[in-house]
Formats: sequence, C-alpha cells, structure tokens
Amino acid sequence: MLTHVHGTLYALQVPIPYPMRFVTVLIDTARPVTLIDAALDTPEAQAAIESALGELGLHWERIERVIITHHHPDHYGLAGLIEERSGATVHMLDLDIARGERYWRMWEQWLAGHRRHFEDHGMRGELLTEMESESRRSRERVHPASRLLPLRQGERIELTGLPWEVLWLPGHADGHLGLWQADQRLLIAGDAILPRISPNVGLYAYTRPDPLGDYLSTLRTLHDLAPRRSVVGHYGPFLDDTRERAAELLAHHAERLDLCRAELCARPQHAFELSFAMFPRDLSASARRFALAETLAHVEYLRLHGELLREWQGHVWVYRATA
Ligand SMILES: [Zn+2]
Repeated sequence: MLTHVHGTLYALQVPIPYPMRFVTVLIDTARPVTLIDAALDTPEAQAAIESALGELGLHWERIERVIITHHHPDHYGLAGLIEERSGATVHMLDLDIARGERYWRMWEQWLAGHRRHFEDHGMRGELLTEMESESRRSRERVHPASRLLPLRQGERIELTGLPWEVLWLPGHADGHLGLWQADQRLLIAGDAILPRISPNVGLYAYTRPDPLGDYLSTLRTLHDLAPRRSVVGHYGPFLDDTRERAAELLAHHAERLDLCRAELCARPQHAFELSFAMFPRDLSASARRFALAETLAHVEYLRLHGELLREWQGHVWVYRATA
C-alpha cells in the first residue's frame, strides 16, 4: 500500500517474512528518483515494489539513487538488484559501510566471529547451530550492492526538491542514518525509533563497544529534535509523537538497566543466563540471539560505566557487580 508522505515522497509497506510483517520503502518521484531502503530480496517484496513503481508511473530502470538507513537485511536486501537493473547509485552512512561490507562481503569470516561472540557469552549447543542457520537464511535474502557511496553526518542532500540533513542515529545499527527536513519538521527515521516495539539494541561481534550508550544519546537527540512526523521502518509508516516515544524508550531502558543491576547484585552470571531474566518468554533461536545481544548491550553499558566487572572463567565471560 502506498501512502503519500510529502510533496513527491511516498511510503510503501513491503511484506517481509519477519514478525513485523512489513518494512517501509520510501519512493521520491522527483529527480533523482530515489528509493529509501530496499526491503529483503524475496519475490513478494520485488512484486510489491514493482507494482508501486507502476502506480507512480515508474519502473526499476528509472531509479537513480538508493539510500539505505542501515545495513540490516530487511532494509538492504534488494539494493544490489536495483543497482543492476537501473544503474542507480547506492548510499549509506560512512560508518555503516565498513560494518555492512564485513557482514555481506566477508560473510564466512563474519559468521565465525558472530558464533564465537555468542559462545563467549554462554550460548551453547543446538541454539548456536540454529542461530547459525538462521543467519545463513538471512544472508540468502540479501543481494549486496557492488559499490556503496558514503553519506556523512551533517551533509545536506536534495530530496523532494528540498534540502534534507543527514543525521547519525546510532544504537540499533552503528551507522544508522536519518534524514531531516527542518522546515517541514519531517524525519525519515528507519528503525532508530519505532511504535509498538523497542528497536533491538544489541552488542554483536564487530560492533561499536557501547550500543546502548549510543542509543540513549540517539533517543535524547530525537527527543530534542521533536519531529512533527517521523516515517518509521516498521509498524508505520508514521509516528506522530516521536518526542513522547523517545521519552518512553529512555524510561524503558532505565528500567532494564535496573533489572540487570538487581540480577547481578544477587549473583554473578554470564550474559546468556541473564538473558532469561531479561527476556523470560520462550523464544525461538533467532529471538534468543536478539535477547542475548540486547542483554549484552545493557551489561556492557554498566561495565563501561564502572558498575560491573567481567571475568573470563576459562570458557565464558561472567559479569558481577563491583560493589
Ligand atoms: Zn528493520
């Protein structure tokens, strides 16, 4: 379904086989014809984008530029295919290019590091194997671009015939990009802030050391920016109370940090064990991986702030309170 956003800009809800069910792809029909985010490489997503382009009097070959909010599979999947079909340039924030390239181009190496990272924090056995196959499935649904061009924080680009500022909104991904139109107070937010769910903020292999610290600053930035309207990656396309939602998510993470403190004051634990106190529901291997990464983001935040210590106990990192 196509929703009009502003001027020549439209938002399309593209189906993805994830619990969120849809990802937002934006289409700007003004020159250069631009797509923001590229869903996942599935026949359903390709068909949805093709039919929306048709509705707007466009086709694949007319796309001149693709901007990716972050390198995750559900936002980057079709970038390479669009590049091949149209010759469009593909852009990402400079900081996310290195991360994305390691992820998509040095895949086998990345996967070994990814597995080792979760093993070092207590994940074992079948769950580890399932998580690995899940990562392989995601990889198959991504067609990486042959060339990525960097955008930089603070840079201005033209979209909808207006100037938009490139924002750096790290946390959910190291180099997560936002686009801000100051006169309209309109934000293209990707997954930096979402209605209904708290965007996953996780410590993964090869990420910046303090993703939660990064994300809390992003939430403060969004709170102060106070957009009139944000276009979001999932459960959108619109979020109209970004300021309130940012405050809510700040409070949510403060509560989660308190839970970590209480659990680790009670007894030392490795992060995988702690993830069951943080996320007590029965989760699939893929969801448990997000739970462990998110737990790690919280304990590492506390460790970097001097509240926790971690000790290598022969085969796993164990966290304990300093006091
Ligand atoms: Zn997403």
